[in-house]
Amino acid sequence: MLKQLSEKDIQRYSHQLILKNVGYEGQKKLLASKVFILGMGGLGSPVSMYLTSAGIGTLGIADFDNVELSNLQRQILFDQKNINKSKVEIAKKKLLLINQNLKIKTYKQKITKKNVDKIISNYDVVVDGSDNFKTKYLINDSCVKNKITLVSAALRGFEAQITTIKGWVKSNSYPCYKCMFPPIKNKKNNETYQDCGIVGGIAGIAGSLQSVEVIKDILGVGKNLLGELLIIDLLFNRFKIIKYKKNKKCNTCK
Ligand SMILES: [Zn+2]
Repeated sequence: MLKQLSEKDIQRYSHQLILKNVGYEGQKKLLASKVFILGMGGLGSPVSMYLTSAGIGTLGIADFDNVELSNLQRQILFDQKNINKSKVEIAKKKLLLINQNLKIKTYKQKITKKNVDKIISNYDVVVDGSDNFKTKYLINDSCVKNKITLVSAALRGFEAQITTIKGWVKSNSYPCYKCMFPPIKNKKNNETYQDCGIVGGIAGIAGSLQSVEVIKDILGVGKNLLGELLIIDLLFNRFKIIKYKKNKKCNTCK
């Protein structure tokens, strides 16, 4: 049985409770849910803030980096006093200031082949806020294997791409990240998106969209970006959706 809402919960979440698609029962589901965020950078900042505000009961946040001056241009969770301090520790403190009732578990470590399954199997949904293909493939494979919804996003310049993945479902309409972006042989896959430069606001938009994809998946409402890649180009204010299907050659979806 899900925990009942307290008087304070009813006040705090009142603007969600009146939504037909959330309501009292939906809020109980959010409070009972567990979401893992990989990377506390440009995407992880807004995603974690919105999910904390919305009352996701348990958040796992992973990042092995410390805050640097060059992060502040887009990573809105951090300020100048945080420079050289652990991102996940600072993030935890600040998120608890927004909502002290939640559990926040920090992982100041690299997510690798060795630890990924053990960590993410504790969660209902995973948010990919990483900035390189190597990590994106790793988290994709683990989410498909463990049957956990993955909300992925990538940033470059004025552009963002967002998609939601349930690649374990044996249907053409449920592809995985590798179906859309197959690894290129003999390429190291560790080029980072942020090497290309980025405008801060695009991270905010993409992270906000990721947070809503997570909430919809937990509540089972609306339509997620399954088999759909939303591409946003803020330089020309263009939003478009590309549909993609399972790739027969994908070694993750087999
Ligand atoms: Zn696939």
